Amino acid sequence: MGKYSKITNYLLIAALVVTLFVMALPNLLPPKTLDIMASPDRYGEIFDDSEAGGSSHIQWIDFNLPSWRCDIAQVLVDTYCGFNLYWSVAPFTSTDFSQFDALSISLDYQGPANRIRIYLRNRSRNAVISTQLGDHKFNYVTIRTEDISQPLILSMSEFRVAEWWLEQYNIARPDSFAELNSVVSLGIDLGAPQMEGKHEFALNELKLVGKWIEPETLYLAILSCWIVIVIGVVLFRLVLLNQQSSRQLQWLRDAEVEKTKLEKMSFTDPLTQVLNRAGLDDKITAILAQQTSLQGYMVMVMDIDFFKQINDTFGHDVGDKVLQELAALISSKLRNNDILCRWGGEEFVVLALDTGPNRCLAFANKLCTIVGNSHFSHDDHLPLTISIGMARFEDNESFEQGFKRADNALYLAKSEGRNCCRMAPVGLVQED
Ligand code: GH3
Ligand code: MG
Ligand code: MG
Repeated sequence: MGKYSKITNYLLIAALVVTLFVMALPNLLPPKTLDIMASPDRYGEIFDDSEAGGSSHIQWIDFNLPSWRCDIAQVLVDTYCGFNLYWSVAPFTSTDFSQFDALSISLDYQGPANRIRIYLRNRSRNAVISTQLGDHKFNYVTIRTEDISQPLILSMSEFRVAEWWLEQYNIARPDSFAELNSVVSLGIDLGAPQMEGKHEFALNELKLVGKWIEPETLYLAILSCWIVIVIGVVLFRLVLLNQQSSRQLQWLRDAEVEKTKLEKMSFTDPLTQVLNRAGLDDKITAILAQQTSLQGYMVMVMDIDFFKQINDTFGHDVGDKVLQELAALISSKLRNNDILCRWGGEEFVVLALDTGPNRCLAFANKLCTIVGNSHFSHDDHLPLTISIGMARFEDNESFEQGFKRADNALYLAKSEGRNCCRMAPVGLVQED
């Protein structure tokens, strides 16, 4: 987890640095521009009202620049005289001006006019209007000639739709707003009121200026990225935590198994694989957790008769083997809940349910007989016998007290000839 959490921290720091860089990007980047005059396909045309009977006359001064001159002899109601610039020869291509913030125009004007008019003809987004009208939407702005600066920066939001155009085509309100998303031409003529005289224009530069990316779009993109990053990091950490907790759970399970194994080992006699004294203590503790005393149980202390001789005659290893065989034999003859423990040396202890004096004695005698009739590794023909002393627990009698009485009874069994069983009398605990 430590390593991965460090990695995610580094990634977050890196993402933060990238975010700061991206936020600074709009200020670092040069503005987005589109130089319309640089287009090799651009095409300029001039027009006047001479054909319609007017008194204005227009002519090129320089077709390529372009610059032109408009002479108005007499201003009438519908006098017109101007210039159109297309991005290509018909069929006219359109340009999306709405992707830019402003129009940068370098325009020279000399003449008596107080105002000039700049207009952008746009194919309507409404397909019906667009195809029905050959006359594209007339978005315009008028500028006082004294306000013509170099360059003249016209914000796209300054353009509005001409009233005469709205009236002429009876345009509904949703389509009456300025549209610059599909501009096919830019026009320059004289604003009202028109003035008689000589008007000279030169269009030196025409550029669209804007930002590569709108701040709102940028911030939204950054925010979206951060949401994704944060969700990613949270999910990643959750997965790591999950993995870590499963590992810890597994570790706990392993430790539990190990503990059980160790407990079993510490409670088991390594030679005979039956319980040792600690194991017996554990069982007694468990019984005393269920009931107040050991009453209802009896204890048998068993001791192999003349075992020293077996060791002496056949060797210690054979003696060990005999101990194992005897433990297995007794174990197989006990009942399910009886507890067998190797007390030490060639002595075994059984803690079993008290089934009454007669039955207990009968059971002990049966064990003596079974052992006496069984064959062991030392010699098939040399019988092995055990002596048993037993005691039934009385009310409030401790295990040690009961055991002591059983041990005394074993002593009696030994002294009375061995290979027999003796029951301790009730209530005669002899302290050493
Ligand atoms: P008794 O009938 O009076 O009990 O005689 P005994 O020979 O069985 O008793 P004694 O106490 O004189 O001898 C017990 C012997 O048990 C002595 C010891 O060598 C042997 N012994 C104790 N523990 C082990 C063991 O783990 N393995 C082997 N092989 N012998 C053991
Ligand atoms: Mg002994
Ligand atoms: Mg013995």
